[in-house]
Amino acid sequence: MATYIVLLGPPGVGKGTQANILSKKTGLVHVSSGDLFRENLKNETDLGKLARSFMDKGELVPDDVTIAMIKDRLSRPDCKAGAILDGFPRTPVQAEALQKMLANFKGDVNLVPFISAAPSILIERVSGRWTCRAKGHIYHQKFNPPVVAGRCDVDGSELYQRDDDKAETVARRINVYLEQTMPLVAHYRSQNKLVEVDGTQPIEQVTNALLAEIKK
Ligand code: AMP
Repeated sequence: MATYIVLLGPPGVGKGTQANILSKKTGLVHVSSGDLFRENLKNETDLGKLARSFMDKGELVPDDVTIAMIKDRLSRPDCKAGAILDGFPRTPVQAEALQKMLANFKGDVNLVPFISAAPSILIERVSGRWTCRAKGHIYHQKFNPPVVAGRCDVDGSELYQRDDDKAETVARRINVYLEQTMPLVAHYRSQNKLVEVDGTQPIEQVTNALLAEIKK
């Protein structure tokens, strides 16, 4: 049966970094809703144009288009064994839609690691973040610097600072997270799927904690 892991946590806590590492260690595909939107933005698709207006303000893209995009992604052959979901679901409506789509694939959400950290830490994390232009690999100028400044270690592409990683947009994103995504913590806890992981630890320790939970 396919395995679906949902990484939950505030912006900047390290979901993308961890999903990327876990994907390599488990062989499950990393599905990031934010990366999919950014790919659409780069390719100037209709979805990208629509998403931009919400992303620039730090707001969520409407549920219906987000759900359709994820459904399409999870239907592809490389997700047959399951996926590590990063950034989706972000609202109760999306969580319900996910459950329905996974039931169609004869699957379910197996585990929901909730990576937590205080807002003051998140702002420092996000404002020092650099993202690779080609594939979205993530670096941090202090906590996880690239070997060559301004270049991705994996593919050598240019590193850039996301528009929505600016301080004022980050604050809005954290509020949106508290209002719209936090209810999912209680939702998955009531299903006994939630495990809490301290996101203030160094990257490797967070990975080890996540791997220990996955092995269980
Ligand atoms: P992220 O890379 O996960 O921080 O996402 C960047 C932006 O993409 C968010 O601030 C939202 O505008 C949009 N986005 C990503 N995932 C979702 C989602 N599940 N629902 C709605 N909007 C999303």
